[in-house]
Amino acid sequence: MKWEKLKPPEPDDPICCCECDVYQYRCCCDCEDLDEALHMVPALLLLPLLLRVASLHYLLGIVVLTALPGLVLWYYYATHRRKRRTLFFLALALYSLAYMYYLFLTEVWPRGGVGPLQVGAVTTGMILTLVSLVLTKRGPGFVDASLREAHGHGTGAAGDATCQSGPAAGKETLTEKRSVCPVCRIRRPPRAGHCRTCGSCVQRLDHHCVINSCVGQANHRSFLQTLCVFVLTSVYGISLVLRSLCPQQHLMTALFYCPGVYSTALCFTCCWYSSIITAGLLHLLLSQVLNISFNVTEREAQLALRNKTGRSRLWGLVVDTGEHSRGLYQNWVEFLTMAEASASL
Ligand SMILES: [Zn+2]
Ligand SMILES: [Zn+2]
Repeated sequence: MKWEKLKPPEPDDPICCCECDVYQYRCCCDCEDLDEALHMVPALLLLPLLLRVASLHYLLGIVVLTALPGLVLWYYYATHRRKRRTLFFLALALYSLAYMYYLFLTEVWPRGGVGPLQVGAVTTGMILTLVSLVLTKRGPGFVDASLREAHGHGTGAAGDATCQSGPAAGKETLTEKRSVCPVCRIRRPPRAGHCRTCGSCVQRLDHHCVINSCVGQANHRSFLQTLCVFVLTSVYGISLVLRSLCPQQHLMTALFYCPGVYSTALCFTCCWYSSIITAGLLHLLLSQVLNISFNVTEREAQLALRNKTGRSRLWGLVVDTGEHSRGLYQNWVEFLTMAEASASL
């Protein structure tokens, strides 16, 4: 059991909501990969079963779909809370995507309301989502030795006047002068942050995502692209399914009221399931777009909130730190043209 694994998260380590309890005072098991694979099996079997139960009656549908997010989180904490890194949410997301696509091809397409061009568009959207996800998973851009040397500081942070250990290390700020990681003990580039889940400093760290990867300078654009493509494909796919299942209703009301849907209730339930997930990711996408528009990362927003140095804007949807923003246009130009390679920073 290592002391590293017992420490609570560093102050410089804002974490996303679904990982906040992973760091409780426990050690990691050596067999965690095998454990994780075994623990995933019941979850992956239960999901289609629950969706079928939900499709039996609309009241069952309301109960199951309302309880499903809580049930998933409960199962995750019951089986995975000892782990720092987990593939649980990524596996569940990919499985859900594959299952929805399978139902689309086997249940909706044969009904005749959807043409080959529309199926092709949904398939292209699925492939683009997966390609964007793979690009995102290539890595966030860790602060490596070459980058430290490029900045002329090497790894001698222990002897640097700005490197502080002990209680002072927790009071790190975002300024370049004191941007020394208290864990890696290196001086790092501006806007870099330490992720305890990955155990390393990440350039322009945004957050550690549930896809089991950090989002940083090298993959932030791919992450945003994944969200955009998924949300567009999902909304389009849901609209096709609703138009096929409930042609007599207006698209906006079909999800809430469709009298003749009982024979295809599983597809209708899956529309609701997909809509709930898409709504969550749409909220994340909106939050990302606003953060980029104000040139603030999620990590910086969390730090600014904690240190009370940021201003809440747009009804609390974004925290403006005022440190890096150069106007909407310039902020987006900076985001779209920022270098991916660490050596070019
Ligand atoms: Zn670090
Ligand atoms: Zn990470």
